[in-house]
Amino acid sequence: MLAPTEALQMNADEKEKYSTIRKKLKLVSSIFPSVYDITSNCNLSCEGCYYYEGEGNLNGSKQLPDEEWVSFFIEEKARGVNFPHIAGGEPSLRPALLLKAWETWKQGAIYTNGTLPVEKDINFKIIISIWGDKQTDQLLRGKDTWDTIYKHYANDARASLLFTVNRLNIDSFPEVMQFAETLGIDLCISIYSPTRKRLDTLEKDPLSVDSTVLEKLQEYVVNNNHKHPSIQLISPIEYFSQAADPSSLFNVDDATNWAKSCSLLDNKKYRHYSSTQKYDKNACCTPYVDCSECRGYLNVYTRIISNTREYLANKSLKKLTRFEGILDAYLNMHYPRQSLSSITNEYMAK
Ligand code: SF4
Ligand code: SF4
Repeated sequence: MLAPTEALQMNADEKEKYSTIRKKLKLVSSIFPSVYDITSNCNLSCEGCYYYEGEGNLNGSKQLPDEEWVSFFIEEKARGVNFPHIAGGEPSLRPALLLKAWETWKQGAIYTNGTLPVEKDINFKIIISIWGDKQTDQLLRGKDTWDTIYKHYANDARASLLFTVNRLNIDSFPEVMQFAETLGIDLCISIYSPTRKRLDTLEKDPLSVDSTVLEKLQEYVVNNNHKHPSIQLISPIEYFSQAADPSSLFNVDDATNWAKSCSLLDNKKYRHYSSTQKYDKNACCTPYVDCSECRGYLNVYTRIISNTREYLANKSLKKLTRFEGILDAYLNMHYPRQSLSSITNEYMAK
C-alpha cells in the first residue's frame, strides 16, 4: 500500500503503474526455485560449456535411477520449492523423469539443447540454447542443432530460444532473430560469462565479451527489434547497462573474485543440486562462473529484481518504471506463453 503522502503526490496513471509493478513483483516473489541437474550426460560437446567445468560432471557416467529422483522431487516440493529448473547435462535424455517432474510440480522450466523433443503433455517452460547462426552453432557445438530445433519446437508456445552471445557469435544476431521468427517462438538474449577454470587456463578466452561486443549487441537489439514484430525479443535494455559491470552488480570481493552478496544465493530456499543430488550452499545456477564476469540473463535479472524491491519500499516510481521490463522478462522466461497470460491476469485482478 502507498503511504498517504505518497498517494497524494501521484496522479491516477502513476498510481495504476505503481500498482501494476507491485503486482508483477508479487508474482515474481511467489516463485521459489531450485535447480536439479537430473543427468550429467549430454549428446553435444560445446565450446565454453559451463556444466563440464564442474568436477565430477562426467559425460557417460552412471546416473541415479528415476525412483530416487521422484522421491527426491516430492521431498523438495515439501521443502517449499514450487518452481524446479530442470537441467543437466541434457535433461531431455530422461523423458520419463521429466514427466515425473511435471506431475510433481505442474510448473517449472527445462533447459535443453533442442536436439530431442519434450513430451507435449509437459507444460513446463522450455528454454532452448542456441550458440549462433547455423554455421557458428555447428562450429561451437560440434553438431548443427537448427534442424532438430525446428523439427521439435516450431510454434511451440512453451518454448523460447536462448541465444548466449559471445565474441565469436555476435554477428549471428540477425540470422538468429530470423530463425526465431521462422520458428514462431520468442528469443531471449544472454551474455557469455567465462568460468574460473577458463580464465585460469586460457591466456585469453576467445568467447569473452568486452565493451565493444556489448555495444555492438545493444545496436543489434535496437536495430533488429522492429524488423521482426511477430516475435518477442526478451532483452530489456536495463539488462545490458547492468551487465556491463557485473563486479559492481554482485558486490565482488576484489581479493577472491567471489560475490560477497548474490541475490540468487541469498534466497533461502534456493539450492542447485548436482546429478548425485548433492548441493553446495555456495553454488548458484552457474556455479563455475567467475563472479566478476557473471553476465548470464537470469543471474543479472535476479540481482536487478532485488533492487526493485528496495525501490518499491521507497516508493520510487521513476526507478521502478525503468525496471518493469526486467520483471516482464523474468516472467516470460518462467512461464509458457498461455500460462503467463492467465497467471498474470490472476495477479492483476487481486
Ligand atoms: S548442450 Fe549444454 S550441457 Fe551439453 S555440452 Fe552443450 S552446453 Fe554443455
Ligand atoms: S556466478 Fe553465481 S554466485 Fe557468482 S555472482 Fe553470478 S550468480 Fe552469483
